[in-house]
Amino acid sequence: MFESLSAEIIAIGSELLAPDRTDTNSLWLTEQLNRLGIEVKLKTIVGDDDARLEETIKDAARRSKVVITTGGLGPTEDDITRKITARALGRRLLLDEVVLAEIRQRFQSFGVTMPERNSRQAMVIEDAEVLPNPNGTAPGMFLDHNGTAIVLLPGPPRELKPMFENHVAAKLAGRAGSLRVVRRMLRVAGMGESAVDEKIAPVYSQYDNPVTTILFNKSEIEIHLTARGRTEKEANDLLDRLSAQIEERLGNAVFSFGGETMEQVVGMKLALGGYTLSVAESCTGGLLAQRLTSVPGSSKYFIEGVVTYANDAKTRALGVEPILLLEHGAVSGPVAEAMAEGMRQRAGTDFALSITGIAGPEGGTEEKPVGTVFIALADEVETKHRKFTLPGDRNLVRWRASQAALDMLRRKLL
Ligand code: AMP
Ligand code: MG
Repeated sequence: MFESLSAEIIAIGSELLAPDRTDTNSLWLTEQLNRLGIEVKLKTIVGDDDARLEETIKDAARRSKVVITTGGLGPTEDDITRKITARALGRRLLLDEVVLAEIRQRFQSFGVTMPERNSRQAMVIEDAEVLPNPNGTAPGMFLDHNGTAIVLLPGPPRELKPMFENHVAAKLAGRAGSLRVVRRMLRVAGMGESAVDEKIAPVYSQYDNPVTTILFNKSEIEIHLTARGRTEKEANDLLDRLSAQIEERLGNAVFSFGGETMEQVVGMKLALGGYTLSVAESCTGGLLAQRLTSVPGSSKYFIEGVVTYANDAKTRALGVEPILLLEHGAVSGPVAEAMAEGMRQRAGTDFALSITGIAGPEGGTEEKPVGTVFIALADEVETKHRKFTLPGDRNLVRWRASQAALDMLRRKLL
């Protein structure tokens, strides 16, 4: 009942095999295909190589019901997708006069004559339907080959996306029938991967559908749920049921049900309550402020952030008493609290967060090893701090410290 169409994606271009270019088209296409209930079972990246591409297309056409290629439709010698696909499928490549006139027209509208080599882009595989490309010169193609849909899309994402949405999605949806695949991501803070799994495995292991995957991502645990249904609603109902059971097990540790980031969740809560926030950072060097302000609309609640790295700066900008720094050290609970209080007064905000810690690799001591971080939260009523010992390298410690600070505020706002 839940057998889905199997698809594969072939990303074409030698640049995609080099370390500095990433094949993002296939990620986007996978999401689109999943939405249509089509499962991507294989992705291939092929360089601009006639023989390899021909083999790949032959294999793909034999084993998959949907084959989508991206790239290699340009006008240059290394753009071989048209020619090789035709060869692999044993079809002719024919000049399409209508397409040629359109390409010529496109150049004319920019006030230039079409270079002769662009006429290649008007070569169309026998019996293929031409997919218009209003954002570029290379048209796409859609053809049926022994019951397999073969779709040729251009490489530039801004050309590929509208072409898929406007000319391909509906055709593939017709082939996919009514099966729908829906994904959801829950995010968990303040718990390790195995602790999460221990709690929720008894729940999710009871289901074949949805399928549950647990992933570790910096300091968050992501729980990915994938459900299949005859309708989107059926799939969503399955997801609702399982995610409710998971939440029951994990409680407040689940901070996001729709893939929102921690800074988005905290921002939403601040905005909803009409609260303001300021932050004082040491070892995170502005990362906390950066994350908070990366959210559109954060100016509603985010007032100010200061980076006080040196002791002196903590005193000057936040009024931290030198005696506190002397007695407890800059990385300590009392200093974290004084930073938060000083920040809150300075900015006149409802809440202030502070972070002070040792990100490493140097600077650790026996008493305060690398990863020791104190985070304080001040509001009108009280100021509290927590001590964390965060694992990881410098970048990870800094990121995890910012996450722990955001999570402290999130829990306060529950
Ligand atoms: P092409 O159609 O092969 O001439 O590709 C033109 C441009 O599209 C490339 O220079 C890339 O910038 C972009 N591109 C090609 N393939 C991909 C892909 N799989 N993912 C993202 N961008 C791509
Ligand atoms: Mg190319």
